[in-house]
Amino acid sequence: MTISGKELSARLKADMAAEVAAFPARYGRVPHLAVILVGEDPGSVSYVTGKAKASAEVGIRNTTIRKPADIAEEELLGIIAELNADAEVDGILVQLPLPKHISEERIIAAIDKTKDVDGFHPLNVAALWQKQPCTLPCTPKGIIKMLKAAGVEIAGREAVVIGRSNIVGLPVAKLLLDENATVTIAHSRTRNLAEVTRRAEILVVAIGRPKFVTVDMVADGAVVIDVGVNRDPETGKLCGDVDYAAIEPKASVITPVPGGVGPMTICCLMENTIECFLRKQK
Ligand code: NAP
Repeated sequence: MTISGKELSARLKADMAAEVAAFPARYGRVPHLAVILVGEDPGSVSYVTGKAKASAEVGIRNTTIRKPADIAEEELLGIIAELNADAEVDGILVQLPLPKHISEERIIAAIDKTKDVDGFHPLNVAALWQKQPCTLPCTPKGIIKMLKAAGVEIAGREAVVIGRSNIVGLPVAKLLLDENATVTIAHSRTRNLAEVTRRAEILVVAIGRPKFVTVDMVADGAVVIDVGVNRDPETGKLCGDVDYAAIEPKASVITPVPGGVGPMTICCLMENTIECFLRKQK
């Protein structure tokens, strides 16, 4: 079975749109997401455009602030301070990566944690690892939603995550652990990677290398979640970290690229914006 993140996210966004439509009568306004884009990297531009489009679908107000790549860190911090102080801004997202002269850590830490819709602020990360209420990072949150929507049982199962980044690998491993999976995190220094991945009943791949996971690395009937977004060097088309065509017949459940984890990430961003808005109303 292929889990279509595109279809699932469309259903979830329609539900959110119905919820948000009632907000002006109840709260006087709709949630407001501010997105900051620094520079003109085509990947970042396309992500920011996707976020604006999803906001429009859900009925969330979206302000995209575009700044040149040579903006000074102090100026960016000033914009964040203004958005933090603006009572009518519920979510703030700085599109990553940032130019090298700007410290991503400093920028993320400057965002008010109650408006940190990406869930990257150190206090949100700490809360996640302490099982405290927090804003969950969008990609890992979307992955768990996909597994649940597909009826995949997580508790007690052997899960392997390849990748240990702060935005995908580590938090998805923690969320799988919270769902009571037995979790292994593999990375570039893992020895005998194929032996490790063949143990996986649930395999989450977040590496960033086209078709890196080959059919011999996957157990019969495994659930395979492909987070990677790459260009296929042969065709130039988008592809994941997993050799989808070869693995799809062997897996019990698999996600495609495009149309899998990507749309769910944006969908969870919408959900996080609504959650930040509603927390403020209480
Ligand atoms: P990242 O920060 O570059 O991390 C990549 C991870 O993969 C690292 O932990 C690295 O190990 C590991 N790795 C690299 N080569 C490996 C190898 N040969 N064997 C085993 N592990 C290896 O990347 P990321 O930000 O997590 O993103 C991963 C991919 O997901 C990218 O393609 C990105 O575009 C995509 N992505 C998609 C979404 C979405 O919504 N669909 C969201 C975020 C990211 P070390 O730690 O040892 O270096």
